[in-house]
Amino acid sequence: MEYQAVAQQLADEYGLISEEAKMKPIGSGHINTTMLLQDNHKTMVVQKLNTTVFPNPLHLVENARAIEQHLTAKALNGEYSLAIIKHLATSSGQYLVDINDEVWRALAFIGRSYSEDVVANEQQALTAANAFGQFAHALNDFDAAQLHHVIPNFHNLAMRIDAFNQVLAKDEHGRAEKCSDVIAAFQQQFALAEELQQAQKQVPLRACHNDTKINNMLFSTQSDAARAVIDLDTCMPGNWLFDFGDMVRTFCSPEAEDSTNLSNVQVRENIFAALAQGYIEPLQDSVTAAEKDSFILGAKVMPFMIGLRFLTDHLDGDNYFATHRANHNLDRAKNQFALYSSVLEKEDCLNNIIRAI
Ligand code: ATP
Ligand code: MG
Ligand code: MG
Repeated sequence: MEYQAVAQQLADEYGLISEEAKMKPIGSGHINTTMLLQDNHKTMVVQKLNTTVFPNPLHLVENARAIEQHLTAKALNGEYSLAIIKHLATSSGQYLVDINDEVWRALAFIGRSYSEDVVANEQQALTAANAFGQFAHALNDFDAAQLHHVIPNFHNLAMRIDAFNQVLAKDEHGRAEKCSDVIAAFQQQFALAEELQQAQKQVPLRACHNDTKINNMLFSTQSDAARAVIDLDTCMPGNWLFDFGDMVRTFCSPEAEDSTNLSNVQVRENIFAALAQGYIEPLQDSVTAAEKDSFILGAKVMPFMIGLRFLTDHLDGDNYFATHRANHNLDRAKNQFALYSSVLEKEDCLNNIIRAI
């Protein structure tokens, strides 16, 4: 079905004038298809949800709306000042629309904003991390247990290792031998799963964002300050260490996730310091001592776990992550392992930065 026909149908559902309706792509998300839907008066964001990644869109919307409502109450009390990503209902009060077996939703457009795909400097790292910190702090008194596990075991490293072992045992595509050095490097670090399990016993269950990349927050066009935390699709019960770790993973390396220039894949300490400062500062009254201690573990676990998932997918014939060249997932696995190694190498220095905040 052409997008123009979809635009008209969505316009009908959401009360726009369908004859005037136009739809164009916005942003650079990888999971959903995100478009701007407009008539001559109104603008909204519409998204076709990726139901392969999110088999239960209803749960996803329930999670996001529960958080939206909590943040809205905080904003009314003056306790949250960022813009809030809000779901729009159809004329009949629904938050999901089925069009030809595809699932769409609408979000209020947050204007006067822009997103960045890569962290260019310390200021951006500080601003973005600070937004995620404000978001986390505002959810300090939100009961995380009420959230659905939209992707079960998302951050369960032990389970990711099991999945890897199963794929390796089969080696259906005969790829294991050629990357035996990479496999061995990961295998030598499997004790990290036990370390993680122990640490998780010491820290509270939190409502986590679980996708704290820089393009999941919006900057203000006018001031370059933080405008909103967006993309609440993966909000689930979890631990803050993962949100911290994913910022380290996605902010700190000067190289892209699939770069093969491995000697340059390392944690930029100045970016790390800015993000740690930005994230922890709003959490000073809510973060526990054990939780703060766990952040460095998150910085290790995230590149390691994502790297292992890339390696698993390589061995499994590239089923999950889209690949654009031969050995793309293997390159990503090596890249993430290099970043993990850099965190290990700089652990004392990075820990001192966290402790000084
Ligand atoms: P990801 O790959 O991070 O999972 P996604 O596919 O889930 O992304 P979103 O992050 O929700 O998609 O949206 C993609 C992009 O669209 C954002 O980075 C942002 O630039 C833009 N965007 C999304 N929602 C809004 C909004 N309500 N107002 C303004 N821009 C938005
Ligand atoms: Mg996104
Ligand atoms: Mg997303």
